[in-house]
Amino acid sequence: MTIAIYPGSFDPITKGHLDVIKRAATVFDKVIVAIAQNISKKPLFSVKERKEQIEDALQSIANIEVDSFEGLLVDYAKNKKAKVLIRGLRAVSDFEYELQMALMNRSQYDKLVTVFMAPNEKYSYLNSSIIREIAKLDGDVSKFVTPYVCEKLKEKFTQ
Ligand code: ADP
Repeated sequence: MTIAIYPGSFDPITKGHLDVIKRAATVFDKVIVAIAQNISKKPLFSVKERKEQIEDALQSIANIEVDSFEGLLVDYAKNKKAKVLIRGLRAVSDFEYELQMALMNRSQYDKLVTVFMAPNEKYSYLNSSIIREIAKLDGDVSKFVTPYVCEKLKEKFTQ
């Protein structure tokens, strides 16, 4: 049984993330989408809200679990008996940071293999922060996030 972890902030989850998760679910026996509880980033959505958004988007796929973690990712991976770490690569600009993280994670736990996946090119310019920015300014993000996330963004910015 090969368990893969897809970690991230997912604040909020976008169709780019979902594209990577769905591809990964066809390759690995189980994919754990792991929400990083990073206190240095001040998130728009709580972990609970992000978990609900991810579960809503992926309810039809059986081999996906949504979880959250604190502390070192490699420790979390060991606890979950995961052999694979999935990261999305959108463009060359992601490469340097992602390579640094992959090599640092390997130095901490060399049995964890990082696998990079490319999303559909139509999502390759998306990230969560640009979605938050556009939604805050009342722009239309319905092409880039699920209807549920779209609704939650509207609620946040009209409160
Ligand atoms: P982090 O804060 O760890 O970068 P993100 O939620 O921004 O968390 O991203 C999680 C993972 O998803 C990263 O590997 C990132 O490169 C990837 N990712 C983000 N947006 C996209 C996208 N539009 N298409 C494919 N992968 C993406």
